Amino acid sequence: MAEPTIYDLSSPGRIGFQFPKSDVPEAQLPAQLVRSDLPMPEISEFDAVRHFTRLSKLNYSIDSGFYPLGSCTMKYNPKINEVTARLTGFTKLHPHQPIETVQGSLALMYDLQQWLQEISGFAGVTLQPAAGAHGEYVGVMIIRAYHQDRGDTKRTKIIIPDSAHGTNPASSSMSGFDVVPVATDKNGNVELDSLRSVCNHEVAGLMLTNPNTLGLFEQNVQEVINIVHEAGGLVYGDGANLNALLGIVRPGDLGIDLMHFNLHKTFSTPHGGGGPGSGPVGVAKHLVDYLPCPVVGILEEATQEFPPFYGYVEPEKSIGRIKAFHGHFGMMVRAYTYISMYGKHGMRKIAEGAVLNANYLMALIKDTYKVTYPRMCMHEFVVEGHFSDAPGIHALDIAKRLMDYNYHPPTNYFPLIVPEALMIEPTETESKQTLDEFANALIKIAKEARDNPELLKDAPHYTPIGRLDEVKAAKDLVLCCWIPES
Ligand SMILES: *Cc1c(COP(=O)(O)O)cnc(C)c1O
Repeated sequence: MAEPTIYDLSSPGRIGFQFPKSDVPEAQLPAQLVRSDLPMPEISEFDAVRHFTRLSKLNYSIDSGFYPLGSCTMKYNPKINEVTARLTGFTKLHPHQPIETVQGSLALMYDLQQWLQEISGFAGVTLQPAAGAHGEYVGVMIIRAYHQDRGDTKRTKIIIPDSAHGTNPASSSMSGFDVVPVATDKNGNVELDSLRSVCNHEVAGLMLTNPNTLGLFEQNVQEVINIVHEAGGLVYGDGANLNALLGIVRPGDLGIDLMHFNLHKTFSTPHGGGGPGSGPVGVAKHLVDYLPCPVVGILEEATQEFPPFYGYVEPEKSIGRIKAFHGHFGMMVRAYTYISMYGKHGMRKIAEGAVLNANYLMALIKDTYKVTYPRMCMHEFVVEGHFSDAPGIHALDIAKRLMDYNYHPPTNYFPLIVPEALMIEPTETESKQTLDEFANALIKIAKEARDNPELLKDAPHYTPIGRLDEVKAAKDLVLCCWIPES
């Protein structure tokens, strides 16, 4: 049944507001502002509240259920983050205010830059990028600036493993580089011979996701980095999976030259539904001068009486500004809150919990679903969503059927190198009970796939809307419920 629109509730003459009697003369609106073609619904305030409350509950969210969407780190977003991000001292600022009136916010940004550096082992951080993909783009521009500055202008290629997220080749080619793929070996690592064969004086850099999108720690990471460095290239870290490494491994210490953070994944700022995200980029010492401008710095050191005085610093060879003002400041407040709530020692517990939960869940289902690369995983793992004795059942059917059990489906058909991939990331914030129940649902669905495959093929059955024509939805996108009759 189609959902009623707010227009279906409309009844002529019904109103949802009352203005006091006007005590000023009525003004005439400019004619071009008055539109009689807008069909405004006529409903009471209570009807409007019920309508939108009901609509809000149709959407699945991390606050309503388990959300094991691999690579997205859908962890609990602590509500204290929202309290701090809404403090009027932050929300009522204007980005053009004189710096002496925004010292608190600059201190927060400065500390967050410092903390991200300490967590990752880098020497400098920009908070400007709007998301991970934007961070990649910034990273590639920094790589180009670094080579050009050295007069090394022949480097036109970026190497990207075939397990990589689609944003890696996209951001590289948008910046004008040619993308060179390298294969994954049978253990789920970068194939070293394949890497060696493409490393030469034309290579500007490698983009490396570690743990990679199979949820596996790159076992030869040191060797991979050395091979690229020996060819004169830089190594960019895709930091989307940093959650598995917090407090244990620092990418900068491994020799990675620069990397983005996804504050909306690792540091619990909310995501889904399109944003906003935040993708700060950390860089090693030799790249600090190229960071986008401005970064927040200390203009006057603290004295016994006064705290430090913060302001904006322009790195010497900066690639320039890459986002209006300072980036998504509200996300920075949330990430700052999250990191301070956990503290230095809590960071490591986050990673340990995430890795433990993923391995526990993998152990529960590994006899039912094939694990393509069966070794200890990090914060997530990938299984194959098909069975030799249930032909016609695909990962998509399993994902859709999970919705009937009130779960958000895992990421499916990614990474591309695993057939019928289901990529599962439970995160550290889920309880053992939730993981047990989810594993039971997956095991039940595997049985249904053999006994009653139609149940999967037609799923979901219990959601507000049934199975969608995904091709049509993508090709024929309709984003508003009311389309003017031209
Ligand atoms: C999420 C993700 C990205 C892109 O990050 P956004 O913040 O969504 O732009 C890149 N690589 C990997 C592995 C990811 O999981």
